[in-house]
Amino acid sequence: MIPGEPNSLSLEDLAKPVIKKDNELLIKTIEVGIDGTDLDIIKGVHGEPPPDSKKIILGHEALGKVLDSGASVKKFVKGALVVPTVRRPCNIASCIPCRKNESDMCITGRYLERGIKGLNGFLSEYFVEEEDYLVEIPSSIADVAVLMEPLSICIKTFTIIDKIQKRLSWEAEKTLILGAGPLGILFTLLMKSKGYETVVLSRSSEQSSKAELIRLIGARYYSTISTSSADIKNSEGGFDIIIEATGVYEMVLKSFEYLKKNGIIALTGIYNTSHQIQLNFGKVLLDLVLDNKVVFGAVNSNISHFREAVSETLKNYSRWKGILHKITADKIKLVDFPELVSKKSNFIKKIITFK
Ligand SMILES: [Zn+2]
Repeated sequence: MIPGEPNSLSLEDLAKPVIKKDNELLIKTIEVGIDGTDLDIIKGVHGEPPPDSKKIILGHEALGKVLDSGASVKKFVKGALVVPTVRRPCNIASCIPCRKNESDMCITGRYLERGIKGLNGFLSEYFVEEEDYLVEIPSSIADVAVLMEPLSICIKTFTIIDKIQKRLSWEAEKTLILGAGPLGILFTLLMKSKGYETVVLSRSSEQSSKAELIRLIGARYYSTISTSSADIKNSEGGFDIIIEATGVYEMVLKSFEYLKKNGIIALTGIYNTSHQIQLNFGKVLLDLVLDNKVVFGAVNSNISHFREAVSETLKNYSRWKGILHKITADKIKLVDFPELVSKKSNFIKKIITFK
């Protein structure tokens, strides 16, 4: 794939990667999940190749098995199942977040991301990765482990929400998730498991498979097609927590309408900067102040969030597996991927399997 060049996706035979440093491992890829970021790179609107190349190997949601390791590797044995993190630190001395293993909060913007920005991804039969960027996966959750990357994003967002909520001496009760894509579904699963009454609003119809999945989790579902903002406010009142996972700015505006006093809005979408709207910004700001509301943005995740994603999945596996299996049900072979993309099929999530 040549970043910036739409539909330049191709399948190529490459040499098997080799371990070059003592702290590296050779991994056999088992599964790679495809998400909206990959589709944006394929469309040519996102992505940056490694410095020595015009092309980038896609893929940043992966599960693999350790085949071999460098001399200093201590944490993983051969045969261990691993999930790699995505972002690599900028290594600039003044960047405290990167120095503290929190490259998701990098302040220089000179971080790299596997399969997205300046580094090849995992959509190949083998990949090499450093020990510090891998998380071990217990075999009991291997069947859903390809979702650890998107789940780690939900964990990061929830961790921030929880810290903000703790400024108050009472618990939040009601959550609204905007969007029912894979991330919206994972947010719903997480918030329900944390004990929140959860409502989901998205553009898919009330009869869609996404809506069905949301109801299966035990959340209420509304479609923007058949429900007006006034209807939602009438039947639901307001929400203590709103997680925006669509990237559509109209949804952000709706979230301001639905938020209760002292509420929290988490923005996790990638918003189009070419959209301009007329807005009474003074009123938006005044409402934030007078109602003690908090709005924050969250992107990416660090290794601590991946580890927590693993422990939450282990803890909730029996309750979550049915839903997680539905999200990962659409498995295809790598050879079929370019054709699928060229057909512009409308899919929720594809899992490319190398088994
Ligand atoms: Zn940094």
